[in-house]
Amino acid sequence: MGRDYVQPVYGLDGFNCPHSECGAFAHQLWLYHLTARGRATGLVGKTITLNTFSASFCVKCERVALWKGEQMIYPMVSIALPASEDMPQEVKRYYDEAREIFYQSPRGAAALLRLAIQKLMIELGEDGDDLNEAIGNLVKKGLSERIQKSLDIVRVIGNNAVHPGQIVIEDNTEVAMSLFKVTNLIVDGIITKPKEIGELYDNLPEGAKNQIAKRDN
Ligand SMILES: [Zn+2]
Repeated sequence: MGRDYVQPVYGLDGFNCPHSECGAFAHQLWLYHLTARGRATGLVGKTITLNTFSASFCVKCERVALWKGEQMIYPMVSIALPASEDMPQEVKRYYDEAREIFYQSPRGAAALLRLAIQKLMIELGEDGDDLNEAIGNLVKKGLSERIQKSLDIVRVIGNNAVHPGQIVIEDNTEVAMSLFKVTNLIVDGIITKPKEIGELYDNLPEGAKNQIAKRDN
């Protein structure tokens, strides 16, 4: 991903435009307490203030998004983070489905994201059923601390077998949002970053690469 995606949030003065035709990071102007002018009999000339409704105006494409309270209701698109370009297809399938249902069911989205992470572990040659063991193996293979922590967050929050007296963190909108972020972070750390370094290395002059190969043999 080039520029970091900024999720549309109520009241924020800049985010990625939710309209797919635009999608750009853009300054947003807010119109609060929208009013409607009546035309129907009995309402002619009357102005009604819709206190709970507001609109954000994208200065780049001049399209409007409608909000009810703090929730965007138009356009009906997911505000969840898009999948990283390097996400394996098998993983992305679940990730995209989670994005689609996120509005209606954050809990369902969280469950699908766990499945996505499980698939990712399998793609990496680990056992998808035992996240704890998979993380341990990946750490042995040199997994960075940041990614390890991200994975452990997923593991612990999703652990249903909690002992009495412990706080159960239930899946909700906030958990689902952070799972979107964590899934991309894992892909970035395990797939994107090593790929970028590999490409840089491949572009080194042949002579230099031969020298390195000689040194390490
Ligand atoms: Zn726009």
